[in-house]
Amino acid sequence: MSAPGAGGPLLILGGTAEARDLAGVLHGRGVPVISSLAGRVAAPRLPPGEVRVGGFGGPEGLERWLTEHDVFAVVDATHPFAARMSASAATACRRAGVPLLRLERPGWRERPGDRWVWVDDVDAAADAVEGLGRRALLALGRQEVAAFAGIESTWFLIRSVGPPEPPLPRQHELLLDRGPFAMSGELGVLDEHRIDLVVTRDSGGDQTAAKLDAARERGVPVVVVRRPPGPDGPAVTTVAEAAAWASARADGAATPAEPRPAGLRSLDRAG
Ligand code: NAP
Repeated sequence: MSAPGAGGPLLILGGTAEARDLAGVLHGRGVPVISSLAGRVAAPRLPPGEVRVGGFGGPEGLERWLTEHDVFAVVDATHPFAARMSASAATACRRAGVPLLRLERPGWRERPGDRWVWVDDVDAAADAVEGLGRRALLALGRQEVAAFAGIESTWFLIRSVGPPEPPLPRQHELLLDRGPFAMSGELGVLDEHRIDLVVTRDSGGDQTAAKLDAARERGVPVVVVRRPPGPDGPAVTTVAEAAAWASARADGAATPAEPRPAGLRSLDRAG
């Protein structure tokens, strides 16, 4: 492993708005950064600076990549539900001796008037649907729709960025769209399709939260899938904190102590 600031880049594991913002901030500060995307989206919004696309080949592949590219630190800014990539990053960074920070936006919180039903995973969400609604907005990742394929009595409006992976439920309509979504548009979606149930994951953030406000406004229940547990390690919730951590590492400086943000599993000091 190279010493911080010895010329290698910082790697941002991306695919989120926060990852793009962080790349922009660090690029502006002159910190060498490579952003990594999985390559699932046909026309992704690209961050500023250098970008690589595609899987690394598991933790072994990522460990090799870190060493070959002299990476001085990694920020895992992937989506809260991209659990395999986060686990792979934790293993690879530990083995390669490269400091790793998790940047994860806070989860959503219920507000007065909300009718939320929390479940542990998409299979549990599918189990809950038939008892709760006849016309459901399914706002999930395109790989998770298949869990609802066996449901006969509920009609689904399936909204995803790209075409969902089959099998799909028999009664459905596709709505290919990506955020940010505004409240007026979300109310329109609920009203036009007579939606009486929303199914979502606890993705957090502002870009896709309007559906929750619209559901509250219309008295529609929401099935919310809990986040998978992430690996232990240092974690922050804002781009500014991640940028400070990364800049300190680029300078070879020590990271100042920070409190553990609520909702994240661990905030041990980075190595
Ligand atoms: P995942 O299940 O955790 O990852 C599956 C595999 O895809 C990983 O093992 C890795 O392959 C590759 N991969 C994932 N993220 C990568 C990245 N940033 N750079 C390079 N390879 C990556 O992840 P996912 O849920 O499919 O999400 C894929 C990407 O979409 C992530 O970048 C995530 O931030 C973004 N995204 C996901 C969601 C979501 O709902 N899950 C929503 C918005 C954006 P190897 O093992 O070969 O390295």
